[in-house]
Amino acid sequence: MVVGGGLATARFCAVLRRKKFTGRITVLSAENVPPYDRPPLSKAVLTGERDDSPLPFNAERLEVDLRLGTRALGLDPAARTVRTDSGDVRYDALVIATGATPVRLPGAGPQRTLRTLDDALALRKELLPGARVVIVGASWIGAEVATAAKAAGSDVTCLELGAQPLCGALGEKVGAATRPWWEGIDLRTSTAVKSVEADGVHLADGTVLAADVVVSGIGVRPAVEWLADSGIATDRGILTDTRCRTNVPGVVAIGDVAQRWTAHTGSHRLVEHWDEASTAATAAVASLLDWEQGPEHDPVPYFWSDQFGRKLQYVGVHAPGDELTVETADDGTLRRAIWSRDGALTAWLGVDLSKDLVKARTAVGGPVSALA
Ligand SMILES: Cc1cc2nc3c(=O)[nH]c(=O)nc-3n(C[C@H](O)[C@H](O)[C@H](O)COP(=O)(O)OP(=O)(O)OC[C@H]3O[C@@H](n4cnc5c(N)ncnc54)[C@H](O)[C@@H]3O)c2cc1C
Repeated sequence: MVVGGGLATARFCAVLRRKKFTGRITVLSAENVPPYDRPPLSKAVLTGERDDSPLPFNAERLEVDLRLGTRALGLDPAARTVRTDSGDVRYDALVIATGATPVRLPGAGPQRTLRTLDDALALRKELLPGARVVIVGASWIGAEVATAAKAAGSDVTCLELGAQPLCGALGEKVGAATRPWWEGIDLRTSTAVKSVEADGVHLADGTVLAADVVVSGIGVRPAVEWLADSGIATDRGILTDTRCRTNVPGVVAIGDVAQRWTAHTGSHRLVEHWDEASTAATAAVASLLDWEQGPEHDPVPYFWSDQFGRKLQYVGVHAPGDELTVETADDGTLRRAIWSRDGALTAWLGVDLSKDLVKARTAVGGPVSALA
């Protein structure tokens, strides 16, 4: 049985059938629609180029008992039972793929987050010419929403706690090289937001910004609250090994909800990117078919973002203290960033450099000179 109805679930079911599993697969999903792809929600769906973003997932063809609108509320591993809002469901083996939930700002005022197709379609309707759109957070979601809102002709303000856009993920030096992309947007960095109230966004310094739309893009939390008292070991997400196994035999966790052990950092890490959710299924299936042995899943992390007409692609994991080289393009903005430690490449970021991606991914862990 799988709990969750997103990308990780869709991939898991497909891989399990490909492995010739003929038993019953039940999927419990809190959403009312079959699994779909989230990256387009903050890109083509928000800009109106698309109205949906289906995944190649066909419950009938995969012979999956897909129970939509069913939320898991608790887990009893000893009884192999998931408690849901429509009764208890028993399982033989369990996959937890409940993803993550956006963090909301304090306050009673209206605020939007962007996680579901409904979120994207509702926000899109409000990105009107001249609408005062205040985005909180200049990270991946904030930058992509800002891109769409600006294209729609809205009056866009973005409030960021850090000193530069994207600086939480990429650091100040790299973030600073993306700042010119925000031209035409009132980007206020080093700005703390206190709450969202009926009259607008309240800043820590007492300023109140009136807004027609407030969008919070301040991060997500793995959806683990339903596992309280279940005995499944969690930190921020569900702790797993490189075979996606939790501490409870017969239970694996994949995708945004998993905090998987990785040799890249020597720690349990939340990855929260599409590539991880898409590729973990192979190891998870193998673990459920044979708990004792199977392939490891610990790829070089990869993610991308489309913002301000550019494609950013990142591979690897950098850490504080890594050596950093930032290269700029002809317009003086970010082209490439290279992180290394003791001469070994730890991470690579390219802007519109898709042609170099495979080489960079292969080079991570080896000498930086391999990039030449
Ligand atoms: C707007 C947006 C844009 C993105 N863009 C990019 C990008 O450009 N590049 C990139 O690398 N990554 C991107 N990502 C991240 C990527 O989409 C995620 O990493 C991926 O969707 C994670 O898949 P998942 O299956 O683990 O979780 P999800 O897709 O979140 O699926 C989890 C599912 O579980 C369901 N669920 C939760 N709790 C319960 C419960 N208790 N009971 C039953 N069901 C439950 C949820 O309703 C949901 O259907 C983006 C994400 C978003 C939201």
